[in-house]
Amino acid sequence: MAEDICHNITTVSNRIQKACQRAGRNPDEVQLIAVSKLKPLEDIKRAFKCGQLHFGENRAKELQDKMADYEEESLQWHMVGNLQTNKIKYMVDRVNWIHSIEKKKYLREIEKRASRIDRIINTLIQINISGEDQKSGCTAEDVPDILEYAQGLKHVRVRGLMGMATYVGPDEAEQVRPQFQQLREIRDQLRTYEADSVQLDELSMGMTNDMEVAIEEGATMVRVGRAIFGERNY
Ligand SMILES: *Cc1c(COP(=O)(O)O)cnc(C)c1O
Repeated sequence: MAEDICHNITTVSNRIQKACQRAGRNPDEVQLIAVSKLKPLEDIKRAFKCGQLHFGENRAKELQDKMADYEEESLQWHMVGNLQTNKIKYMVDRVNWIHSIEKKKYLREIEKRASRIDRIINTLIQINISGEDQKSGCTAEDVPDILEYAQGLKHVRVRGLMGMATYVGPDEAEQVRPQFQQLREIRDQLRTYEADSVQLDELSMGMTNDMEVAIEEGATMVRVGRAIFGERNY
């Protein structure tokens, strides 16, 4: 059980740094998001005390509870899991980033709720880059309509795209490189939709097993759980 979370964060940071070196990128361009789903608040506190500021959760209720129980102003909360319209109201007062927009109606609900409390929420459009039925996300063809809608919003910023590659083992990450390339290409083609509330600089892609490949393909956010907090018991 005794994961040395600080040590793990250093190890992951070194992996990020090496991947950036190989790709000729500045490591400051890659934000590490510690995915703390199913892990106790104690683990988040330990990571925060070692300087980790960005945390990701994938369930609305768990996110809501953890946000309420740990009030650190400099901590940034990321919702990385499936959304439901009726759960959005439980996160808008605190969440900083929502990675899993796949429909206009989610943006509409965020705008409605965030405008009441005068907040601006950062969002990413999730694309199903693996093409697997069980993974969420929209298709590249769905995105222009969503971005046109987002152009008129005042309390939502679309900041980029998110994708989850096919699950591969630690030595097989090379297999999913085309999926990351594809997300980047889709983003490049969508740049024409940029406006005050639509800036597509961020690419949220890469997890414990495939973060290096994702970084080489342009990731600006990697979402890492197990390499920091250890295996999860489902
Ligand atoms: C769980 C999860 C991760 C982290 O996966 P690890 O393999 O533990 O690094 C990243 N993104 C999303 C959306 C997740 O649900």
